Amino acid sequence: MTPLSPSTADRLRHLLVGLKMPRALEAFDDIVRRLETGELSALEAMQSLLAEEFETRESRRVKMGLMTARLTRIKTLEDYDFAFQPSLERDRVLALAGLDFIERKETVHFLGPPGTGKTHLATALGVAAVKAGKSVYFGTLAEIVASLEKAEREGSLQTRIRFLTRNALLIVDEIGYLPLTQNGANLFFQLVNARYEKGAVILTSNRSFKEWGQIFGDNVVAAALLDRLLHHAVVIHIEGNSYRLRAHRNLMPENLAAPQKPNPDKPTRRRGRPRKDQT
Ligand code: ADP
Ligand code: MG
Repeated sequence: MTPLSPSTADRLRHLLVGLKMPRALEAFDDIVRRLETGELSALEAMQSLLAEEFETRESRRVKMGLMTARLTRIKTLEDYDFAFQPSLERDRVLALAGLDFIERKETVHFLGPPGTGKTHLATALGVAAVKAGKSVYFGTLAEIVASLEKAEREGSLQTRIRFLTRNALLIVDEIGYLPLTQNGANLFFQLVNARYEKGAVILTSNRSFKEWGQIFGDNVVAAALLDRLLHHAVVIHIEGNSYRLRAHRNLMPENLAAPQKPNPDKPTRRRGRPRKDQT
């Protein structure tokens, strides 16, 4: 390969500066050297130069997207051990990772006792959505309601609701750990109502829908919330043991352990091989 003339090399460097491609500029000399030694063809050199810049931008975009989404504890579906949670329908969770539920503006509920991976799965879907270029916002119900209450006090409730309605996916974690005040419940209803059919939502909860009256302190508000959050909804139950306690289950007092009875919201389904008289 004939060496690149200094003026051509300079002009290329100049173009990379003008095009604001700092990572490509950094990699330029090395790529030219590999081109001149014949290690790279001209097309490979172009590909390499653009890939350097593209990958840097992509990872910056994802980093920023995760920060804006407030997804600080990164989890992925690859590090979720489905074998530990045999009651969980793996294929349904993997289908959600295709992210069509976001396009369809559906609501996904992850229900199950503490430690079964509800936050993990919700986060993993949020991370996948950010990587796919969707805007996401993650918060616990308590955090989201506190931010609405603060906005209300400061006279900026509508702005806050608009902000929480703009994202393609809103993740509301930990419904049911802390009871809400009546005003908190009303504010959350306003948010859900504003988002209704406008954007996808993922909710996680350790409580059954029957208990929403208690959580939201009012049966009418709970019913109105569920009316919207169960329309276009995917409900995923996890009924197994806590992953956090997997090494110390025997230390959890029996009266505090999550009951292992069937979930009242889930239609019972026989496991195992069907009996002869049913086949
Ligand atoms: P939940 O929100 O249901 O209380 P988390 O999602 O916070 O539970 O899970 C608790 C911890 O255990 C997290 O660190 C999570 O990554 C991990 N974890 C839970 N279930 C699994 C699993 N099946 N495979 C791998 N890690 C898991
Ligand atoms: Mg959780």
